[in-house]
Amino acid sequence: MKICDAHCHFFSSRYLELLTKGRNEFPDDDRATAVAKQLGWDPPGSVDSLADRWITEMARNGVSRSALIASIPGDEVSVAEAVAKHPTHFVGFFMFNPDAPDAAATLERALGEHKLRAVALFPAMFSNQLRNANGLKTFEAAAARGAAVFVHCGALTVGVRKKLGLPSRFDIRYGNPLQIAGLATQFPTVPVIIPHFGAGMLREALMVADQAPNVYFDTSSSNGWIKYYPGLTLEAVFKTVLSVVGPDRLLFGTDSSFFPRGWQRPIFDAQSAVLSALDVSDDHRARIMGGNFERLFPSA
Ligand SMILES: [Zn+2]
Repeated sequence: MKICDAHCHFFSSRYLELLTKGRNEFPDDDRATAVAKQLGWDPPGSVDSLADRWITEMARNGVSRSALIASIPGDEVSVAEAVAKHPTHFVGFFMFNPDAPDAAATLERALGEHKLRAVALFPAMFSNQLRNANGLKTFEAAAARGAAVFVHCGALTVGVRKKLGLPSRFDIRYGNPLQIAGLATQFPTVPVIIPHFGAGMLREALMVADQAPNVYFDTSSSNGWIKYYPGLTLEAVFKTVLSVVGPDRLLFGTDSSFFPRGWQRPIFDAQSAVLSALDVSDDHRARIMGGNFERLFPSA
């Protein structure tokens, strides 16, 4: 069975630099190393070496391909370089704010020159309405380029921001999956990926997916949001989601991000156990664990 991970963050040196911009306690000459040290992480080093380290880590765990998310606006180029070095293993996603002043140029460059394949929206982070001209332009560009749109809905916490004491003025009201229902139906050729089953807004995410066959869920992270639902288990989540959207619209993912932790094998093990408990067939399991990702993002 081929394993593809639909949700990994590429925490490059540039990512750490951009994240801590304006924080004077880190020296400008080797900021990324100092930030990594404070976090207890291995310094990311160059894009090349970080990309190679992920390749080794994936091989060790039997992972064929992985999405890499540029996780702050301005770091698209790091992921583009990693993808250029390992084009059959990596698929580039990038965090994007459609309401930013330079949005049009960023979008054009990321999907064009940089060859990234999914726009990653975090509406709660940037207070994006999405149902406006800028949201429309984003989906139009994705449709024109054959790219996907990833939309982080529901609860949003960024662990690294918390750890560094950076403010997280997120407004999760903007992260309601219903915000994208209209766009998803208007652009039926654009795959829309909702991570973590809607991260707490499972019902709304299912309603949107039930209406729009181009809506997918990624299964990534420990899905800690299930605590919002009394008695809910991950097994019940998979069972419900499979009964509503079937086995072709689930993308396995881990939400792996930094070293030395590396690839999050426990997430894979836990989700594999859930699929076994639910008696999911080998064929359906293969689609969830990698086949659906391959269909959405065929190797270039
Ligand atoms: Zn993530």
